[in-house]
Amino acid sequence: MGSLDLFSSNGKPTSPLSDFNPFNPEEFRKQAHKIVDFIANYYTQIESYPVLSQVEPGFIRNQLPQTAPSGPEPLEAIFKDINSLIIPGMTHWQSPNFFAFFPLNISTAAFLGEMLCTSFNGAGFNWQASPAMTELEMVVMDWLANMIGLPKAFLFSSTGGGVIQNTTSDAILLTLNAARDRVLEKIGTENMLKLVVYGSDQTHSTFEKVSKAVGIHPSNIRLIPTNIEGGFSTCPVKLRNVVENDVAKGLVPLYLCGTVGTTSTTTVDPLEALADVATEYGMWFHVDAAYAGSACICPEFRHYLNGIERVDSLSMNPHKWLLSCLGCCCLWVKRSDLLVKSLSVTPEYLKNECSESKSVVEFKDWQLGTSRRFNSIRLWVVLRSYGVENLQNHIRSDVRMAEEFESFVKADPRFEVVVPRLFALVCFRLNPNPQDDSSYTELLNRKLLDWVNSSGKIFMSHTIVGGIYMLRFAVGATLTEECHVIAAWNLIKEGTDELLKPM
Ligand code: PLP
Repeated sequence: MGSLDLFSSNGKPTSPLSDFNPFNPEEFRKQAHKIVDFIANYYTQIESYPVLSQVEPGFIRNQLPQTAPSGPEPLEAIFKDINSLIIPGMTHWQSPNFFAFFPLNISTAAFLGEMLCTSFNGAGFNWQASPAMTELEMVVMDWLANMIGLPKAFLFSSTGGGVIQNTTSDAILLTLNAARDRVLEKIGTENMLKLVVYGSDQTHSTFEKVSKAVGIHPSNIRLIPTNIEGGFSTCPVKLRNVVENDVAKGLVPLYLCGTVGTTSTTTVDPLEALADVATEYGMWFHVDAAYAGSACICPEFRHYLNGIERVDSLSMNPHKWLLSCLGCCCLWVKRSDLLVKSLSVTPEYLKNECSESKSVVEFKDWQLGTSRRFNSIRLWVVLRSYGVENLQNHIRSDVRMAEEFESFVKADPRFEVVVPRLFALVCFRLNPNPQDDSSYTELLNRKLLDWVNSSGKIFMSHTIVGGIYMLRFAVGATLTEECHVIAAWNLIKEGTDELLKPM
């Protein structure tokens, strides 16, 4: 390796300790070209693979050795296993026929940005550890904040700022942690068990998980019930009643999690009215806009964030719908000092002049871990390579395709749209005889979903909301075009004909 002294004291060459050289730029160039070709081929063939993996449990583990190889294996041998084991064992999230859950967008720019991120492979925990990593993240987070019209309070030029996390769970964990510390400082840690957090039965499940992780007693996690009449959004009146009841019992309201674009149906909570309750009871108000936040870069969707100036924090995931690849959850807070106060620990080995002077942002204090990736470079490359207008068009094109799918559903009397579509997700169900028992209708839809997904041609998912089993058709995979949506609908109709065929 680079620094080995290859010469003995008498000037004669000695052999290096080993020939092993894990990074040689020329070797890297050669191998990386092969990988790039492999990736490009994967994407040109992606439609030929079943979208939902068809393997049985154990398929991969049973065919791979139980121990790592003792010696090197050529890249060709690794590719062979990728083709025969890994690809069949993948559910192809990037297939244009992937309509399940929410999309996880990929793009050429994100790929290139990811390569750059790995190229520098710095830990970026504080400013000195790579000034570019810290400062680029600040710039990119301010750019994105401006794109979705966040007020100045969320920018670094004010008291706030943004940081890239891995997932929404991290964003909720950090803000809940800061909120908890702020309140306990006032009321004393002996009151920890009095703290109560609020969401709705449509809040993402990670809220419950994280609440437990920060020490909220499970009996103090309130999930306000929603219903179809209220469009499955959190009802501010119900919330207020529950909070009042808690306060009357001597409990302490701590944190409210609202959602813009719920996971099941993309419902949007009324931020203004929820903010009234949060403000009145001194709660930290966080908004989870993991999916729908990306749409808010388009002026016609921005109104879904109305009231955002009254919340304490907001998170959204460009890795879902803004072409940025997994591992990009953007969190903004209005009071960055509260995050830092609850997380800052600086051992001697991380001290330096800049950090001591408090003149720089130290992102280690804005996350749980110490080391962090250069994810901002990926987002930066995406934003620069495409520009805001192309990103808006990307969102609009997915919404248009979802509208078209919705029109197919509405035109077929055997189907119904269950929840009004707001973005690019259509929640619908087969309901040929509305007088049928609801469990029979559920069974029909389960069978239809099974039939469609086991065909391998498309992949959709389902949910149950308000006791109604429904199918979710989420348009948004980067490669999806109108022809895929039309083919998907034809397949769903074919399955329906099969299912409803007289015996
Ligand atoms: N919040 C919402 C509204 C979501 O839809 C999702 C995932 O779809 C999540 C949170 C979970 O996101 P993450 O994987 O970033 O934790």
